[in-house]
Parts: sequence; structure tokens; C-alpha cells
Amino acid sequence: MIATTGKVNLLGLTQPQLESFFESIGEKRFRAGQVMKWIHHFGVDDFDAMSNIGKALREKLKASSEIRGPEVVSEDISSDGTRKWVVRVASGSCVETVYIPQNGRGTLCVSSQAGCALDCSFCSTGKQGFNSDLTAAEIIGQVWIANKSFGSVPAKIDRAITNVVMMGMGEPLLNFDNVVAAMNLMMDDLGYGISKRKVTLSTSGVAPMIDRLGEVIDVSLALSLHAPNDELRNQLVPINKKYALAVVLGACRNYISRLGEKRVLTIEYTLLKGVNDQPEHAEQMIALLADIPCKINLIPFNPFPHSGYERPSNNAIRRFQDILHKAGHNVTVRTTRGEDIDAACGQLVGQVMDRTRRSERYIAVRELRADPAASAAGNRS
Ligand code: SAH
Ligand code: SF4
Repeated sequence: MIATTGKVNLLGLTQPQLESFFESIGEKRFRAGQVMKWIHHFGVDDFDAMSNIGKALREKLKASSEIRGPEVVSEDISSDGTRKWVVRVASGSCVETVYIPQNGRGTLCVSSQAGCALDCSFCSTGKQGFNSDLTAAEIIGQVWIANKSFGSVPAKIDRAITNVVMMGMGEPLLNFDNVVAAMNLMMDDLGYGISKRKVTLSTSGVAPMIDRLGEVIDVSLALSLHAPNDELRNQLVPINKKYALAVVLGACRNYISRLGEKRVLTIEYTLLKGVNDQPEHAEQMIALLADIPCKINLIPFNPFPHSGYERPSNNAIRRFQDILHKAGHNVTVRTTRGEDIDAACGQLVGQVMDRTRRSERYIAVRELRADPAASAAGNRS
């Protein structure tokens, strides 16, 4: 467990929250903008480095607050440029953050929870169960850490991180307030200045929270569909038993239509051999998505030990893609990245504390990967 200091962590505060903080300590609100630039643009965590803030105020800040990101446990760089950080959060668990450079873009895949309660049958994060929600500081802290590791400066040009996807560990809509605060910081010019189109929240389909999201923010939305009918989706994505396809897709349609400006829903579909990869599934998907502006991202299953699933053959993947394509859909297949550093979707496990023996030890999730056949198959989609 990381010791807490009782100080306010300024890293996770949005501009209005930081303004209120300064007011609460008897200072001017404009200080918030100055401090945000130091934190997010320059990656500073030492008040003494803030040269436009007088010594007296710096001392006052040191007494009441801190700038504390999650602890970096490891940083791996793949031969293809993909990077992966394992960071430890206050609950003691570790989560993973992945950076994927591709076609002039740099996409950072950020975690929202340590573990996940939703237990999708093909997801290794789900297999760990839920451990803790990340704080807003721990979520934006992943962007802060990645940005610092690229030596980023405040210039808007040549930025390493152009896109952020909430597609790491956890279900972001079940950690709503912290995720929304962190996404606001990603988009704020005093934060990371990333356009709303390039910040994407991915959900397994927590329908009422999709409605709530639409009331407070206008980021891009991705739905983890994975099955074109309720019967199959109930098995693969258990939250579907609570919010069936018609309800979830209705919520997504409303969310997207509110955004206007030709924005579309991203549909993520993990292809599982012999389970959801047949032509009939593609046909059902076409009917299901007929009136939803969307683009489809097929994710060939990334194997992990004892999952019970296999990745379809390249032919089966192509056949599935072709059927959707011929029906007029924009369909991409996520390519393999970060193979040598275990950075694939659904393989992000970090280390989650065993809830039954919380204080004694961590489950060494990496040990699960000791199965050589599985690690040879490990890859990024
Ligand atoms: N909880 C959110 C965010 C995680 S996003 C959600 O489910 O949408 C990670 C994406 O990778 C999701 O679409 C998820 O279903 C998918 N995924 C999980 N395990 C996978 C695996 N083993 N292989 C390929 N994709 C996987
Ligand atoms: Fe949770 Fe998403 Fe994994 Fe499902 S796919 S268990 S919602 S992280």
C-alpha cells in the first residue's frame, strides 16, 4: 500500500477544481492556470521549479498539496516502438498503460480500474476480478508519465501523444467521475490539448452511464460489441444480461446523434475462433448496425493461458471483414503491436492484489504467462 500524505494531489484536479483550491487557501484563481501548465505541459512535480510563482506561495503549496503520479514499476519499449508502463496505484495494485505509434499518430491506451468486475469471458483483466477504482490523478497520471518519458515540451507540434483511448484495464463508465475529470484534463489546453474526437472512451455497454456521459462530455465513444445477438452476448459479455443489445445500442445512438458533426460510434469486435467469427454473425451484425453511424474495428483474439479461446485463421478474419465491407461498412482489423512486451488488448493484467490475501502478497499475474505456448502467441491487436 502506498502511504498517503493527507495533502491535496493537484495532478488530478480540473481547472475549475484547481481554481476552487486556490480560493480555499486564500489565493487568486488565475494561479490554477499557471500551475496546470507546470504540471501538464512541463511534467513538473516540484513546486520549487515553478519560476513564476513566488517563494511564499510555493512554501504554502508545499505545506498543503503535492503533485503525485502513480509509481512507475517498469517501462518497456518494443522493437516496433510500442511502449508499455506498469504503474502502481494507491490500492497497491498495478495497472498498465500502452503507447502505440502508427501512421503518424501516437495513441495512448489508458487504464481506469485495477482489475474489472464485469468478467467478460475472453478478457484477462476480467479474469482477475475487481480490485480498485483509479483516482483522477492516477488516470491522468498515466498520460503525465507517458508525456514525460517522451521529453514533451508545451509546443503543440510534434506531439508524441495525439490520441488517448480509455481501452486499458477496467470499465471506465464504472469509475465515472474520475474518468470524466481525467478526460477533461486530456482535452483542456492547460492540460494536454487533445481534441475531443481523439479522446475515446470504450465501454462494454453500461447503458445508463452512456446516457449520463452524453450529458457531461463529448468525447468519442466505442462499444465493445463482440456478439451480434443477445444469446451469444450474454455469454461473452455478462453485463448484457442487465442491459440488452437493443438498450445499449439505443444509448449509443443517442450519444452519437447528440455529438452531431458526422461523428460515428466505434464498434469493437473481438474475433473468437468458432464462437463469433462465422458469416452468419457478420450478417446479423449488418442488420443490427443498419441505422447506426459507425466504423468497425475487428480485434483478433489475443490468447492468454487457460482462456479456452483461440484466434481465428487469417482467412476467417478476412472473410468476416469482407462481408461487412461489402455491406458498406468501414472495417479495420487491429494489427499486432508490441508483441515482445505483452502489450496486447485483453492481455493487460499488471498485478492485482489477491483479495483473499490482500496484505500478504500479490498474485503474480505474470506467472500466469509462464506457459510458453501462450507467451509465444502473445501479441497486440
Ligand atoms: N472495459 C472496456 C475498456 C477495455 S477496452 C471495454 O470492455 O470496452 C479493451 C478492448 O479489448 C475491449 O473491446 C475488450 O473487449 C477487448 N479485449 C479484451 N480481451 C481481449 C482479448 N483477449 N483479445 C482481444 N481483445 C480483447
Ligand atoms: Fe472489463 Fe472490458 Fe475486460 Fe469486459 S473487456 S472484463 S468490461 S476490461
